[in-house]
Amino acid sequence: MKVLVFVEQRDGKVKNNAFEALSVAHRLSGNASDVAAVLVGDGVAGEASSLEGAGTDKVYLAESQDFKHYNVLSYADAVSQAIEQFKPDLVLAAASPMGRDLMPRLAARHDAGIVTDVVTLDAKGDGIEATKPMYAGKCLAKLTMGSGLKFASIRPNVFGSDKPGVGSATVESLSVSSSPDKLKTLEVRKGEGGKVDLTEAIRIISGGRAMANSDNFKILDECADVLGASVGASRAAVDSGFAPHSMQVGQTGKTVNPNLYIACGISGSIQHMAGMRTSKVIVAINTDPEAPIFGIADYGIVADLFEAVPIMTQKLKEML
Ligand code: FAD
Repeated sequence: MKVLVFVEQRDGKVKNNAFEALSVAHRLSGNASDVAAVLVGDGVAGEASSLEGAGTDKVYLAESQDFKHYNVLSYADAVSQAIEQFKPDLVLAAASPMGRDLMPRLAARHDAGIVTDVVTLDAKGDGIEATKPMYAGKCLAKLTMGSGLKFASIRPNVFGSDKPGVGSATVESLSVSSSPDKLKTLEVRKGEGGKVDLTEAIRIISGGRAMANSDNFKILDECADVLGASVGASRAAVDSGFAPHSMQVGQTGKTVNPNLYIACGISGSIQHMAGMRTSKVIVAINTDPEAPIFGIADYGIVADLFEAVPIMTQKLKEML
């Protein structure tokens, strides 16, 4: 199976989710010559070398000022050219906000099928078999796609990003530029969110309505610093102005999948759980022993978060 991977970069640096997609692509195809990557941006040529050993022999490079900022139409033009040249069976990307925007458009443009946000992905003959969480994570749907061009996006942090250690990542430049009239990106404003993008964070500590104000998030920041974690929030905390929307986890926020998710003063609404229930270990701190979050927590602490979190931070400092 030939797999083309869209390599996401931000500020000229390849994102971890690209290595994850490449490692899946290499597993599906079985060899680096059947995997290609497509890197789109302005001044990103240097980053192509970071893809050496990531499971691909070829990197299609689309470099132009037109690609300085992400624009779904111009990026779709660049990736389409790579598709025409490589003729993949499968085009793969992360189900990040960028991947969720770009991949369905590409699939429509190429009149092909797509499976999105999958948590398992395997080759089945000429096709693929995948599973994806549905109905806010309440069930898993099994999806198959047959031969021919198809598209898939994978949920970040599920598959692992270890480099297979093979693949020369030889660069082949695409002569493509694209400045669509229909859609122009005028400015990109960075969110005020945590240090690591929540969708890529290995550990997350989140606060809910019980945080009561933005100042109180400092106790989560302190704990996050010790743990090397990012800080998230529930929608109630965001809507109350305690935290920016870039920190919101859930159905209308970010879908996260860290190794450790600590929910502080979060009740565990279905909409919040939709964004974090696949976290590997969930810890909940809540004064209400009946809070639904305890239903999915691996460890539950029935306590006032303003007492429990500082104690936890202190103990972690001593341990780490
Ligand atoms: P609450 O439900 O008010 O829970 C606060 C919790 O804090 C309670 O369990 C309480 O026992 C506990 N508590 C109080 N004091 C303390 C203390 N001192 N120490 C410890 N615990 C304490 N929500 C999201 O989070 N993300 C989304 O993306 C999202 N999308 C939505 C989309 C739609 C269409 C709709 C309708 C809703 C959405 N919501 C979302 C909102 C969701 O329904 C809940 O309202 C929200 O998740 C509640 O946030 P919370 O758990 O922080 O607040």
